[in-house]
Amino acid sequence: MNIQTIIKILTDSGIEENEAKIEVNMLLEHFCSYTANDKLRGILPDENQLKIIEKKVQIRAKERIPIQYIIGESLFMGNFFKVTPDVLIPRDETEILVRKAIEIINDNNFKTVLDIGTGSGCIACTIAKQTDSTVLGIDISSDALRVALDNVTRLNINNKAVFRKSNLYEKIRPEEKFDLIISNPPYIPSGTILQEEVQKEPSIALYAENNGLEFYEKIIKNAPKYLNPNGYLMFELGIGEAEAVKSLLEKDFENIVILNDLSGIERVIYGKVKDVLF
Ligand code: GLN
Repeated sequence: MNIQTIIKILTDSGIEENEAKIEVNMLLEHFCSYTANDKLRGILPDENQLKIIEKKVQIRAKERIPIQYIIGESLFMGNFFKVTPDVLIPRDETEILVRKAIEIINDNNFKTVLDIGTGSGCIACTIAKQTDSTVLGIDISSDALRVALDNVTRLNINNKAVFRKSNLYEKIRPEEKFDLIISNPPYIPSGTILQEEVQKEPSIALYAENNGLEFYEKIIKNAPKYLNPNGYLMFELGIGEAEAVKSLLEKDFENIVILNDLSGIERVIYGKVKDVLF
């Protein structure tokens, strides 16, 4: 057996060649401590190492489970987060949201953040780690929150990110106020057929009613109640949803900004709560 045979197991199952090569390297690095550096130095993975990853590759090819679930972790903004099928795998696009959030938090000296639908906690933990803010992450799923708690330990941010089981604002007390509310909510219109790998992710983290707008509507409606004066609300956006979400925001928010991702898709929206509400 050689590395080409292993890559072929993946390409034969329909995985694109470049992706297959990346995944094989990820498996070698994770399960066999075989690094890109070894490769550069001309060291080839040995028979034993190939055998270890062959089993994983077979599962990947047969069941089309995302590689991150097989490895059990995913890289997001420089840190490896634990992921299980109970949480969405962090996406590159979400880094645009989090980078902007960090900038806004620093510029405004914000101290409190609420992350709605926190999942793996990748947004909450990154903000807690990289700013002076404390973050409360909430989620309807206890299984997701268990993963988020493991990520607090991984990132060593014990008192800065806390989590609570809550269906949207349900368990947020009226006196709790935040400088920033952030969310990457489920936004794929229900009924959309997804790629096989994405179907392995939790559907409650993906789908939303009302053409994908359900959670934007619910979050925006009550956000002013939980924001401090001059507070911000920020979202990741699904494809083609920017205008509709902007209209929803315009009632109680001003200075609304939309940011594109690297593919030119409107991916992030944010605005500041209007002063007249205080
Ligand atoms: N960005 C994810 C996807 O397109 C969906 C994440 C979400 O619904 N928030 O697969």
